[in-house]
Amino acid sequence: MLLKKIFNETDSKWNAIVREFEAILGKDGVVRRKDELLTYECDGLTAYRKRPALVVLPRTTEQVAAIVKICDRDRILWVARGAGTGLSGGALPVEDCVLIVTARMNQILEIDLENQRVVVQPGVINNWVTQAVSGAGFYYAPDPSSQIICSIGGNVAENSGGVHCLKYGVTTNHVLGLKLVIPDGSILDVGGSIPEMPGYDLTGLFVGSEGTLGIATEITLRILKTPESICVLLADFTSIEAAGSSVADIIGAGIIPAGMEIMDNLSINAVEDVAKTNCYPRDAEAILLVELDGLAVEVAANKKRVAEICQKNGARNITLANDAETRLKLWKGRKAAFAAAGHVSPNYFVQDGVIPRTQLARVLQEINNLSQQYGYRIANVFHAGDGNLHPLVLYDNSVPGAWEEVEKLGGEILKLCVEAGGSLSGEHGIGSDKNCYMPYMFNEIDLETMQYVRDCFNSKGLANPGKLFPTPRTCGEAANAQKMAQFKDAELY
Ligand SMILES: Cc1cc2nc3c(=O)[nH]c(=O)nc-3n(C[C@H](O)[C@H](O)[C@H](O)COP(=O)(O)OP(=O)(O)OC[C@H]3O[C@@H](n4cnc5c(N)ncnc54)[C@H](O)[C@@H]3O)c2cc1C
Repeated sequence: MLLKKIFNETDSKWNAIVREFEAILGKDGVVRRKDELLTYECDGLTAYRKRPALVVLPRTTEQVAAIVKICDRDRILWVARGAGTGLSGGALPVEDCVLIVTARMNQILEIDLENQRVVVQPGVINNWVTQAVSGAGFYYAPDPSSQIICSIGGNVAENSGGVHCLKYGVTTNHVLGLKLVIPDGSILDVGGSIPEMPGYDLTGLFVGSEGTLGIATEITLRILKTPESICVLLADFTSIEAAGSSVADIIGAGIIPAGMEIMDNLSINAVEDVAKTNCYPRDAEAILLVELDGLAVEVAANKKRVAEICQKNGARNITLANDAETRLKLWKGRKAAFAAAGHVSPNYFVQDGVIPRTQLARVLQEINNLSQQYGYRIANVFHAGDGNLHPLVLYDNSVPGAWEEVEKLGGEILKLCVEAGGSLSGEHGIGSDKNCYMPYMFNEIDLETMQYVRDCFNSKGLANPGKLFPTPRTCGEAANAQKMAQFKDAELY
């Protein structure tokens, strides 16, 4: 491949490019030693690894723009990376790419409590936003379980969700405006500081675009008032179906909890082994966590109704947490669920399918059948309120062929979700993991339309190539591949 040529370290053209990057960022803003580059060879989907040619660590929008301009000029592939916690291989480097890491863009630039908004750089960690405003009675609603480590830039690119997204919506509902560096190096402002803007919703388009349209360098977020009252209720059941029926009945009763999560027996035992909450009964087939928030009178009335609904569905015990400390204790196990899977098994692979709530019992049974058919244990943890499943397939990567089987099993689970009327991803994105499954959900015209949109921003295909769209590629990508082929004859290569 011709691009490789410029990444030959002895090549004078390549060294000249590295010097240009160093002139923009300083020597400590460019990582080129092979051992240091190892840190960046994968994201949270560790089964795939690729070392980037170079890592750059900008601090400002202008620095990002200058780097991207050089990449555009010399047709260098690049990939944006936030904290690298993504679970779909979105920040996985591609061959010979420059990885643009936003870790040093970690400033909260503005806090405007009166207008309920905060402006941040993309490397700001999700949880820092709430920490910065909680003293004044505000919070930032989207709360992925990785919120103590993942970046807002990554949240924007993945349109991340979390426990509170049932009631408050995912990241896209909380982003008012963005400063972007698009792949030709131009700086663009989309959206603004108020929710409704005329014209195309380019903010909405960018959120969830997985680094294929450019890099967000400043993000204006909506913050919310902390609710007057919050209560968490934990109910345990002898069947997962009973927990699922409770979810349907709670929503059916017109109650919209802030969050509703289910964990199955395998997950319960994994988190109790690791997080030792002593709150989750080890013999329960399922636990249901329901968070209610709002005015104190409303929460008081709803917690009574939710408890009644759970009891009607056969809940054995109901634990209530009204104070912050007990609430945290009840949530601790759920938040540690993925990490706990890593303690009970050498490796795990997490899927992220969505199904209609009404299909919960049937799909879980089918996942169980697949688990037996393939011979891998599957722990189930899910955002039950919005039907977002996270089956965790436990396996041992040192066993030859295990990963290939697990990957196939993951594909079958996703197919099951789509066939049930659901989706390939609820919050972790498509990345390089699920792009081959996109044709399960979209026809060629759908995919081509999306690729036309991508080509408007990323016409040379330099930004995060190979992500999101299926391989082998359909028409829009074919046009791009043709363009790339033309570069072969360019003088530089
Ligand atoms: C233990 C654990 C629990 C998790 N729980 C949840 C959960 O509850 N909900 C959830 O939604 N996710 C969850 N995730 C997944 C992950 O944390 C999210 O996808 C998160 O948003 C990724 O952020 P990041 O900063 O790590 O992004 P990265 O992994 O670095 O990048 C993710 C994608 O964003 C792109 N990107 C990064 N920064 C920018 C930018 N500034 N501009 C444009 N594109 C950019 C990258 O190219 C890549 O495609 C979890 C992950 C782990 C490991």
